[in-house]
Parts: sequence; structure tokens; C-alpha cells
Amino acid sequence: MPRRTKIVATLGPATDPPAMMDAMIAAGVDVVRLNCSHDTHERHRERVALVRERAAAAGQEISILLDLQGPKIRIGRFKDGPIDLALGDAFAIDTACPLTEGDRTRVGTTYTTLADDVYPDDTLLLDDGAIELWVESVSSGRIDCKVVAGGKLSNNKGINKKGGGLSAPALTDKDEADIRLAAELGADYLAVSFVRNAADVQLARELFQAAGGRGGIVAKIERAESLNAVDEIIQAADVIMVARGDLGVEIGDAKLPAVQKHLISRARSLNTVVITATQMMQSMIDNPIPTRAEVFDVANAVLDGTDAVMLSAESSIGKDPAKVVEALDRICSEAERHVTRSGHRIDTVFGRVDEAIAMATMYTANHLGVKAIAALTETGSTVKWMSRISSGIPILAMARNAETRRKVRIFRGVYPVSFELASKDVNELNMEVVEELLRRGTVRNGDLVIITKGDRSGVGGQTNIMKIMRVGEHKTLVRD
Ligand code: PGA
Ligand code: MN
Repeated sequence: MPRRTKIVATLGPATDPPAMMDAMIAAGVDVVRLNCSHDTHERHRERVALVRERAAAAGQEISILLDLQGPKIRIGRFKDGPIDLALGDAFAIDTACPLTEGDRTRVGTTYTTLADDVYPDDTLLLDDGAIELWVESVSSGRIDCKVVAGGKLSNNKGINKKGGGLSAPALTDKDEADIRLAAELGADYLAVSFVRNAADVQLARELFQAAGGRGGIVAKIERAESLNAVDEIIQAADVIMVARGDLGVEIGDAKLPAVQKHLISRARSLNTVVITATQMMQSMIDNPIPTRAEVFDVANAVLDGTDAVMLSAESSIGKDPAKVVEALDRICSEAERHVTRSGHRIDTVFGRVDEAIAMATMYTANHLGVKAIAALTETGSTVKWMSRISSGIPILAMARNAETRRKVRIFRGVYPVSFELASKDVNELNMEVVEELLRRGTVRNGDLVIITKGDRSGVGGQTNIMKIMRVGEHKTLVRD
């Protein structure tokens, strides 16, 4: 049984050698992520070209996700190198301090209005929470703090405010330039960092489409305030990312597990796809095997129902990115064997015919011992509904459109298949589909399969037929 959970891997220097890309593809990477927090447009273009070339060589279509940097707020630089902060030290973040002139007593920041959002008794977290500062006073652009948790502090580290509340808008000028790059590269997904609400998602979508982009929008949940707008963000986005790095800094790491479970469950209920991200295989940046805790983390995300798991530094700057993909592949595949059937949407009313067909298909498939579902799909919406339902049955998205195939690749349990409708005759079409499943080794003689399609094939949103067939008997059908 092929793995259902999808693997997203961030590209970086470690994945640049063509042989490494080949090995990652062979290990089963589904989606690659370009991280706009690093590297130039030129480098991103080269990486996309490499992925497309090596994927084509392997006879595959890999989806491309471009991730915007967003308004990540950072400290400036230190003129004499990293500093050491000890418990109780006084230290200031001073918007008047030139960006390159930080020292033992203060440092500048890229966010010149930071002091307007910070109040005495707030806690600021630097370097993903490694350094904790308690705010003593704020005056004329300068935030005076006492060190609560110290350590080494080097250039350009991120600043978060515990509990959230920094007012930076979700899209910067750099993001807008990067959105144009995403459109130029034909990215299948655009990830928006630090979204606060549905309007942020909507704005990114408008800019992406205005630039000619056709891909889906991934909303990264990584700000405390986004948790107050979970449902509206999920509904505005095609995909959400549980961005555990920044989110954990803002809400505290202990809150993450419950929030992850809630986000995955809401996303599935609201027909949105979900990626679980950050530090899933962190120790494999250097080590050949994951820790037991990492194995459990990945497996638990699979059991929670995530569509995809993501690698960040583990692949971009890791020692052996392909090995990490192999480890994810192994852990996800095994965990999937223990997923139980869904009671999902048992009480809801379906709004659309194609949605009703998708639900009926999953209910039938899960209770009839069907071996495969073949969905003839134009836009991928039927297979998205199907993949929100827990099941061990492969959902083949038979799509003539390459864009659709790359879009659905991230959906859990969905496998894109390039498929041209050779015949207009209904029975011949069913036969072609079953023959394709046989060729792929998905089914054998005697197996039951379900085919979904529309009377008017080639048009999106028109699925209105669910056909149950037994392989072997498909050749002897009379005209229906
Ligand atoms: P990042 O987002 O890797 O772009 O920071 C993910 C996260 O914050 O977890
Ligand atoms: Mn982040």
C-alpha cells in the first residue's frame, strides 16, 4: 500500500546536488518548498529548474510551494560579534540604534515601530525563544529590558512577543516581489507567513492572481492572534500550515500539541488541507537516525490526520536530506496502518451534488471493502472532499490537467494519475479506467473499485456519478 501522508521538503544548499535531488525523489518527496527567508530569486529559479528536470527524468510531477518570509521581526547586528546575556542583565532593543551598531547594552531592530506595540511587563523572545527578556520600561522608541533567560545572542535573530500582538501587516514589500516570483515560476502553492485573519489570506490570493499565479494559498498559523480566527483562516485558505516554530514561541511550547490537534481536526472538517511543520526530524540535521521522540511526533501527526509533514533545516542544510525523507516515509507508512475509519461529517448536510458523491463514495468504499477509488477530476475538488475522510483506500485522481495533478499531490491518500479521456462512450471509459488501475498494479481481478465522474466530462464541479465495478467483469458490460 503506498504511503498516504505526503512529504514536503525545503530546498537549500544540501539539496542542490542533482544526485541528492534524485535520491529525494526516489525516497518519495511529494512537494518541495522554496523558503524566501533565504536566497536570491536567481537561486530559487535554478532550484525550480532542477526539480522539474529531475522529476521529469524520474517520470514524476513534484509540486512546488513558495514560502514568503513575511514580517518576521529581527534584531540588527552587533558591531563586535555575538554578545553574552546573563540573568538579570539590562539590555535594550532600541529603534534609534543603527542596524549594524549593536553592543552589550542595546541592539537595533528592522521593525522601526516595535516600541509602539510593546508595554512594560511584556515578555520578548529572541532567537526562537532561546533568550527571554522582561520589559521594564518603554520610552521614545527604546525598550528597556531585564534578561530572564540568557545566552549567546548573534546578528539578525528573530523577535517574538509572548502572547502575540505585534501589529506588522502580513505582507511586506519583499513579499510582494516574492509573490511575483511565485507566479513567474508557476508555483503550485504560495505560503503566507504570520497571517492574522482571513483578510490577510485573501489579500495574498488577490496579489498572486493579479501577478498571474494559479496555485493555491497556504496560510501559516504562527501568530497567537491567528488562533482567534482559526475557522475563517481555514475557510479562506486552500491549505493551512501548523507552523510550530514561531507559533510555539508566541503561545509557549506546552500549548502546541493541543493546538496542532485542533487545527488538523478543524481543517479536515472545513475541507482544507493541512501541513504539520517544523522540527519533526530536527536531530537528523546531523544524525543518521531520528530520536524516538521524533518518531512519535511524526507518527502522532499522522494519527491526528495531517495531510503532509514538512522538513525545514533537516533537508535544506541537513547532512543527508534523502535519508530524512526515507525516515519520514517509513514512519508515516507504518503509522497509517493504525488509522481507524472516520465518523467525519456524519451529521452534516451536503451543499453540492459533487460533494455528496464524494461522501457517498467514501462511505461505500470504507464499508464495502473497495480496493481503489478512481475519481475523474478536472479541478481536484472531489478528491479533496474524499481525502478529508479517514480511510486506507487509495484515491486516484485521474486528471488530464497537469496543474490539477500537482495541486492534489499534497492531499492525504490521493495519487495523481495523468489520464486523457480517449473515449466518449461511458462503458469504454469505465473500461479504460479499470485497465489503467490494472496496469498500475493498484487492483487485481476480482477487486471492487469505485469510479466517480460527471456526465459532462471535461467540466469542473460536475461529478454526479458513482459507479461500483468488479475488476474482470468490466470487459463484459453492456451499454448502460
Ligand atoms: P518558517 O515557518 O520555517 O518559515 O519560520 C514555519 C514555522 O514557524 O514553524
Ligand atoms: Mn515561521
